Amino acid sequence: MKGLNEAVIFTSSGIRGVFNETLTLEDIVKISSSFAEVVGEGKIVVGRDTRPSGKPIAEAVIAGLTSMGKEVVDVEVAPTPTILHAIRDLKAAGGIIISASHNPPEWNALKLAGPEGLLLDEEYYTSIKKRISKRTVGGDRPRLIGTVRTWNPFPSYFRSILDYIDREAVRSNPVKVAVDCGGGAGALATPILLRKLGCEVKTIHCHTCGFFPRPLEPNQKTLGDLSQFVISTGSDVGVAHDCDADRMVCVSEDGAVLRPDEGFALIVDGVLREKRGGLVVTNVATSLLVEDVAERYGAKVVRVAVGEANVVKEMVRLKATVGGEGSSGGVILPAVHYVRDGPLACAKLVEILAKTKAGVSDLLREYPTYYLERVKLSYPKALRHKIMDELSSRYSDENVDLTDGIKLCGDREWVLIRPSRTEPAMRVWAEARSRQRAKQLCENMVREVKSIISELNS
Ligand code: MG
Repeated sequence: MKGLNEAVIFTSSGIRGVFNETLTLEDIVKISSSFAEVVGEGKIVVGRDTRPSGKPIAEAVIAGLTSMGKEVVDVEVAPTPTILHAIRDLKAAGGIIISASHNPPEWNALKLAGPEGLLLDEEYYTSIKKRISKRTVGGDRPRLIGTVRTWNPFPSYFRSILDYIDREAVRSNPVKVAVDCGGGAGALATPILLRKLGCEVKTIHCHTCGFFPRPLEPNQKTLGDLSQFVISTGSDVGVAHDCDADRMVCVSEDGAVLRPDEGFALIVDGVLREKRGGLVVTNVATSLLVEDVAERYGAKVVRVAVGEANVVKEMVRLKATVGGEGSSGGVILPAVHYVRDGPLACAKLVEILAKTKAGVSDLLREYPTYYLERVKLSYPKALRHKIMDELSSRYSDENVDLTDGIKLCGDREWVLIRPSRTEPAMRVWAEARSRQRAKQLCENMVREVKSIISELNS
């Protein structure tokens, strides 16, 4: 059978679908055997998050790879950053990570990584897609069937982080941490890592049996349990992850759930303070807070398109001090690796709290408060390019940033519009110093787009 199921979605951050509906075992074997053909010589690491579909998908992935003669190292359930660390550690040629990140449990996805544990970019996914559509799976098979063995990726992952963190600082000022992994793979890393650092750790939703007690995306709406848990346990800070633990969102000692951007900013602050400046790379949707932080230490901020691979590419090129995607709570600390890493972000946050002897809310109080509003707007798919062209011509003489979608930048405020890559919808984000103003910026943009659509339709 040629090609893939039409409904499989290729994005710049993975190949995804609902397991057994839009993403079938057959598709998975095709994807993994095509990957086996294009990836370089050497071992391939396979790992997954805690979704129940992870196990059958991993077996199909391994079947696809070994049938093409590949030597597979199966690290089983682990956070995405731990799997990426294993690729570098084992000097493997690449890896396949089975995780739909923060998406609902019935979804799953394959994320492809290359050598050094770096996630592959959009171009690579496009080439895999072309390859699959041209060939018939089961064509040129090697004579030698590959091998598979399991390997525990955690000891060396923990060692890398523990070598980087100032353990003495944490030991002399122990921090009480409440951890909520949402039933995801972070449960196998974050509580253990923080205990190794000498923190007093209390856990909630830290099981890995495939039951998800809260929505997997950690944010102000989904972390009510953790907020209460921080208060009831008298913790200094709460931390939460998505299902594959590349994101970190925190809760202050008084139970306030921070925006993902705020936790990100606290870590950027800690790193720039320690390095006395430097360079930060982040995406266009990340809060202006990062500029406030950078300004304080005379550091520079470079903005790139949304997507971990885009941020990493620029961080490597510019030898950035710190970076990530504040908009989703993804922190990248290149001293350990070029990967959005939730457990590492927690360890760094704890070190910062121990060193400054301050609470999360004290640290945040040093910065202005920003408000973010987000709306999704559907539109006729055929009009996508026309709408974006019309919008950019209307705003051509304002302060426009075309790095990713269209971003209009004002004085301490911005509005960003980006077409979704997976559905006929536009996402509009606006950030401003008051909630009302952020709402107004969003509404103005939505009105503008609607009027363009009706003009184009008439
Ligand atoms: Mg994730």
